[in-house]
Amino acid sequence: MEKILTLLTASVIFAFLAGCGSTAQQGQLERFIEAHVAKVGPLTTESNLVYWQAATTGKAEYYDKYSKLQLRIRRLYCDAQDFAFIKEIKESGRIKNARLNRQLDKLYYAYMRNQVEPELLEEIVSLDSEIQEQYSSFRGTVDGEKVTMSDIYIILTTEKDCRKRELAWKASKQVGNAIAGDLIRLVKLRNKAAQEIGFDNYHTLSIIAGEQSVKELDHIFGELCESTTEPFVRLKNELDIILADSYGITVEDLMPWHYHDPFFQRTPLVYEQDLDEYYKNQDVKELAEEFYAGVGLPVDDILARSDLYDREGKYPHAFSHDIDRRGDVRILCNLQNTERWMETILHELGHAIYSKYHDHNEPWLLREPAHSFTTEAIAMFFGRLSRNAAWMQVMLDLSDEERREIEGVSEKYLRFQQVLFVRWALVMYNFEKQLYADPDRDLNDLWWELVEKYQFIKSPPGPVDAGWASKLHFTSAPCYYHNYMLGELLASQLHHYIIHKVFKLESGRDISYVDEKKLGDYLRKKVFGQGALYHWNDMIERATGEPLTPRYFIKQFVQ
Ligand SMILES: [Zn+2]
Repeated sequence: MEKILTLLTASVIFAFLAGCGSTAQQGQLERFIEAHVAKVGPLTTESNLVYWQAATTGKAEYYDKYSKLQLRIRRLYCDAQDFAFIKEIKESGRIKNARLNRQLDKLYYAYMRNQVEPELLEEIVSLDSEIQEQYSSFRGTVDGEKVTMSDIYIILTTEKDCRKRELAWKASKQVGNAIAGDLIRLVKLRNKAAQEIGFDNYHTLSIIAGEQSVKELDHIFGELCESTTEPFVRLKNELDIILADSYGITVEDLMPWHYHDPFFQRTPLVYEQDLDEYYKNQDVKELAEEFYAGVGLPVDDILARSDLYDREGKYPHAFSHDIDRRGDVRILCNLQNTERWMETILHELGHAIYSKYHDHNEPWLLREPAHSFTTEAIAMFFGRLSRNAAWMQVMLDLSDEERREIEGVSEKYLRFQQVLFVRWALVMYNFEKQLYADPDRDLNDLWWELVEKYQFIKSPPGPVDAGWASKLHFTSAPCYYHNYMLGELLASQLHHYIIHKVFKLESGRDISYVDEKKLGDYLRKKVFGQGALYHWNDMIERATGEPLTPRYFIKQFVQ
């Protein structure tokens, strides 16, 4: 043995030792992951189940239990020794196995963002869950009468009486005033935690831990702002005339409550045709079920476990929930037979099938979407169909004439909706960035400054309140909103690729996607199956031939 060693050159010895070290480290890492997943896996499933109970009942005891479980999970990720171990392995660059490396990345960022004093962490988690509970059970009032968000949407989309609109809009903001103080306290606690880890603030930390960069995001949002200003002004001027006319007021008198959504993040249904007309005698749940089965991505098992209709105390919006990374996937909705809920159920089921079709042979840590925005992209890809004339014709059994009628209008809706969403996302992204950079500034003024700048909506007369805080995302999904925008960009990129490369068509004009099994095959193979095995931009490049780009979104909706 000795003799052989002396014959070896220095470089060979080095290579040998490096290889050996790498194998040893690989073994250590594998054992670490095994022990980690044995702890975190069951806790995650339990916590997901309790959250489901909380959201479906609104009961404080479940929110309480959920908050405790979240804390236990986060405590695992707080362990400084574990983090030191992971950091050392990551920085050594010795793990050559790609699958193991991705798990290492996942662990690294999950641990990094949790390197916070336990007391501070506990404070953050319990305040967060307290605000969410308040939010979920809060009901605004109109003339002293309690109203649900569904009631408010009905008033904002149908009422002609401006006073009633104003009251309903204000009712939608009351929850913001009720929780704003706590929310700002939470923002400061989150910042304190981020600073402990060495970041300027929580916003910066979140972006980096999400494997993204502020510079890159600023660049994308800058490009989107520039390309949408002119088309948005044109579309909005046209809308303002129609809206003012419908209320019998002048364009100058238009106030935030005259738009059909509390935040003007959705297109008002005001053109010559109301898409709700097409859905009111349909069953949106059945339509969604039939459609997904037709593209080879059946959702009957998901729907059977889901909670679909409005109830007192229940969480008022919608989400999709992967309970156990083994196929127990559910959605929560508050369905009505309207276009809005058609979109929502298609959207949430989009998230759900992404989770359902992860390859269960992949390791637990990788059995999730490549990124939160890649699952948004799939959800949006399907959600867009609720306004797509070709899709509506097949699904709703419409005549060619009806389809043409819709086409003239719905194309405008889609285009307007997307341009409008860019402007809204610009408000959210920039507000949140500044919220974390300086939570002590006058945030109510900042909010309206940005709304006027990007959405061209005047602030209401008199002192402004903290209505912005009624946007739940500030509490429950902080520093996340930009991902919805990236999701739209990717949805367009996938659509373009599928039309041209998978279906080999010249244009997407007539594509309804109905009964196209090739769509399901492509998504399962190129997007869903591998889960988080690749960095999100690698996954996108493998699936579409190039990294994420705003080009196809701009081409589809803006130009
Ligand atoms: Zn979503």
